[in-house]
Amino acid sequence: MRIVVLAGGIGGARFLRGLKQAVPDAEITVVGNTGDDIHLFGLKVCPDLDTVMYTLGGGIHEEQGWGREGETFAVKDELAAYGVGPEWFGLGDKDFATHIVRTQMLGAGYPLSAVTEALCARWQPGVRLLPMSDDRVETHVAIEVDGEQRAVHFQEYWVKLRASVDAKAVVAVGAETAAPAPGVLEAIAAADVILFPPSNPVVSVGTILAVPGIREAVAAAPAPVVGLSPIVGDAPVRGMADKVLAAVGVESTAAAVARHYGSGLLDGWLVDTVDAGSVAGVEAAGIACRAVPLMMTDVDATAAMARAALELAEEVRG
Ligand code: GDP
Ligand code: CA
Repeated sequence: MRIVVLAGGIGGARFLRGLKQAVPDAEITVVGNTGDDIHLFGLKVCPDLDTVMYTLGGGIHEEQGWGREGETFAVKDELAAYGVGPEWFGLGDKDFATHIVRTQMLGAGYPLSAVTEALCARWQPGVRLLPMSDDRVETHVAIEVDGEQRAVHFQEYWVKLRASVDAKAVVAVGAETAAPAPGVLEAIAAADVILFPPSNPVVSVGTILAVPGIREAVAAAPAPVVGLSPIVGDAPVRGMADKVLAAVGVESTAAAVARHYGSGLLDGWLVDTVDAGSVAGVEAAGIACRAVPLMMTDVDATAAMARAALELAEEVRG
């Protein structure tokens, strides 16, 4: 079975670990969000790709959900001693090596997709990890500070400001001229099932879909498309997705996120059992919907979620 997953960072990576356990023989292609990418200290950092790579490759800091386990921060401390920031972005020593290798390869002329493949040769994530695009796309968030509008990089909004101010707009800068990375459209067209993991619908899955051609390919794919809600009990399970949902005029409910994707994209949608009351409304919008436990408390629970998504895909395949 060929499965394509459009993934952000933590939510995507944890789901993928469960999916791999549920269907160990499946051929899984991950289309990863690169809108969160940022240049720091002259290095190209790809937080979502790395979260997927480290999580599936056994190098992730488990409790934190991002970065390497057993990390030290000597380089960061030394940079700070020179007064060189930003200090709000936690790059550990081990993690730095990844960004150095990536930056070196990009500098030598390799596209991000080739660099990602090279990094994965070490980590063996057990999936084919593709960036959504080899072109630079950067998510920016419009905020209002002291009555003045300004745009900040997504990481500044998320990590530095902890989404403490309202987002007025979210813009994937560069997306309109970006092209899907080699293999992305082919994988979508050839998939047996396409899954939206419980990733952020705006700044993870939404950014991937903003690359011209990807949304159209998903909508046109013969495979059923099934998503899992990152919103449980009217709030994100983790993080501040409600802030960026509000910026695009979408309520923080599992049903509203399903309608936001819409029946043009989604054939099926899973909500958590606490949101069972919203199933009928989602189905009325033309999307098959089931309520199952959606908390990724451990790999077994996550594998059960993945099986439920694949079962729903079979049902809607018709
Ligand atoms: P990021 O790039 O690291 O922010 O990660 P993603 O975009 O892939 O996923 C973030 C989303 O995962 C958040 O909106 C969370 O609500 C969601 N999430 C995290 N843990 C869980 C979980 O256990 N269950 C569900 N349903 N969603 C989760
Ligand atoms: Ca992310």
